[in-house]
Amino acid sequence: MPLQVRGAACTVFLRENLLTLLTIIGVISGTLLGSGLRAFGHEWSRREVMYFQFPGELFLRMLKCLIVPLLVSSIVSAIGSLDLSLSGRVGFRAIIYYMTTTICAVMLGIALVTTIQPGRNSEAYSQPKATKLVMKDTLTSDTLLDLLRNVFPENIAQATIASYRTRLSYDPSDKLAINGSLETYKIEGEYQSGSNVLGLVCFSIVLGITLGKMGDKSRPLQNFFHALSEAMMIITGWVIWISPLGVFFLVTAKIMEIGDFGDLVGRLGMYFMTVLLGLFLHGFGTLSILFILATKKLPFRYIAKMGQVMATAFGTASSSATMPITIGCCDDMGLDPRITRFVIPIGATINMDGTALYEAVAAIFIAQLRKVEMSFGKIIAVSVTATAASIGAAGIPQAGLVTMVMVLDTVNLPAEDVSIILAVDWLLDRFRTTINVVCDALGAIIVTSLSEGDIAKTRATQNDREGATVHELTEIEKGDH
Ligand code: ASP
Repeated sequence: MPLQVRGAACTVFLRENLLTLLTIIGVISGTLLGSGLRAFGHEWSRREVMYFQFPGELFLRMLKCLIVPLLVSSIVSAIGSLDLSLSGRVGFRAIIYYMTTTICAVMLGIALVTTIQPGRNSEAYSQPKATKLVMKDTLTSDTLLDLLRNVFPENIAQATIASYRTRLSYDPSDKLAINGSLETYKIEGEYQSGSNVLGLVCFSIVLGITLGKMGDKSRPLQNFFHALSEAMMIITGWVIWISPLGVFFLVTAKIMEIGDFGDLVGRLGMYFMTVLLGLFLHGFGTLSILFILATKKLPFRYIAKMGQVMATAFGTASSSATMPITIGCCDDMGLDPRITRFVIPIGATINMDGTALYEAVAAIFIAQLRKVEMSFGKIIAVSVTATAASIGAAGIPQAGLVTMVMVLDTVNLPAEDVSIILAVDWLLDRFRTTINVVCDALGAIIVTSLSEGDIAKTRATQNDREGATVHELTEIEKGDH
């Protein structure tokens, strides 16, 4: 290739991928600077770390601020603008995709952790026990029921700021409760801060279907949600330019804050590597195979275009905060926006393969440390609860750690055992979040590809209808003359 042509191609590549490159540089340089600052030997105080994190925190707040309006408006406008039977088919395909990938992830995790057995002869158990986590004990059934309660919020305005959870408490004067099991505790409910995204998704789906059924009468409301979704994407387009800096400061501060990483990895190394291997095999193996089967194309070209999304997911450790950028990336790839806006927000809320894989590996790893015998029944119970735990986990940093309590409960392990894996969780969280968002974006491509025929048919019917209307109008005009 002549030098000039090569130079021009290079310029085009740089222009198209500048932001992605800068964001990846942000992650790498953040890691280097963070490690360098720690190597200084200076103990960074929490306040110093907070100052360092501040620009990153601002970036995260901007992204988080977009989540609720973007999520609601995207789902409502996407479903509202799709023909009802088409949205049913798209939804069905998406749910099948989410279920298949999550079950594959859990199975892969279980296969790896039972063959590698990272918990056998591990030193992790001998590490001092962390203080009791701020988690109230609840039964697995409480967590599952809370999941369902949150799907049906009693007040949609409240769902934007708080979600419901069961709290078990005991009366200090009640001897039976203190000495008895959790079954004897008083059952109370409380609202905790943080949006109930599951409830918002469910409400938006129902509203979208209703608007679609109402036809022309719902046009003003549909236009409103459509415009709101577009506006949120324009703001995302501005915020995205801050991502290299935002990600840089978030990663640097996180690395400054952690203890001796070499020591931690040494102790939890096998567990860490098992999760990482699982995530890698799932991302590049299972997902790629499913992608090839469904689209008859290779996924790597598409994955390469997701650099920005992956770097942001890694930097923020939140699939919800990354959602606006994931939607933008799918738009750039030329996917049908109605499908993207339907599949991505729901995926970011309930489809977390990385989290499901990690939940299964971590629970069985802890069981191995504690020498708990894993029967086949228990393994099945772990797979089911790990799937539920991944659906219930919010798309925020380390949410998987909270829902892990439910998985541990199925193997009769106490909630505090989560502290064993706490030390490396912040880093694994970033990797699993990256897989979570890649899986959502690949899902959007797969569902679009599988729905192409249906979309073309709907378009043809619409064109016919419009053609017929124009013809009728022309006939009427002719008659008037
Ligand atoms: N941080 C993850 C996400 O946002 C959830 C988790 O696994 O903790 O996707």
